[in-house]
Amino acid sequence: MPSLGHVAIGLAAGRFHAEDGRRRLVATALYTALATFPDLDVLARRLGAGHGSPWLHRGALHSLTFAACAAVLVALIVGGLGRSRLRMALTGAVAATSHGLLDTLTGGGAGVMLLWPFSAARTHAAWTLLPASPIGARLLSHRGFEVLATEVILFLPFLVYALWPDGVIRASPSAAERSAR
Ligand SMILES: [Zn+2]
Repeated sequence: MPSLGHVAIGLAAGRFHAEDGRRRLVATALYTALATFPDLDVLARRLGAGHGSPWLHRGALHSLTFAACAAVLVALIVGGLGRSRLRMALTGAVAATSHGLLDTLTGGGAGVMLLWPFSAARTHAAWTLLPASPIGARLLSHRGFEVLATEVILFLPFLVYALWPDGVIRASPSAAERSAR
């Protein structure tokens, strides 16, 4: 679970959605929720999911199908927030599906049920590029901070893009705009 990485993707998606203003804030909150919600499945065991259940960690909630459905649902309920619903759904789908795909790149934990409900196979990528983040209170440990520091470095481009001050990331005026001044 590269937790900071998922948040970085959500923040970057929010920046992509709108230049600034309240709509960007709302979009950022929604995209961040879409990029992180699959890890709610860490609660599944406490809620009664037993051995072999697809609702256990990195199961159905981490699938591409669930991610796409969640993104479409958000776009249908919330609308486009100043953009088209299609753009909202597509950006949300990228944010949500990135979660399961990134988790396949982590070095520990269970594989990801990317293809649920069509297959219950748990997938690991051939390369383990990301450290598996400790879950819950164990995040506040030496290992947790090590993982956090690694994620800051790996996801720096997304964080810089998302958090760079307004007015700096803007396309330079076109020749037509310049001549109109
Ligand atoms: Zn996850």
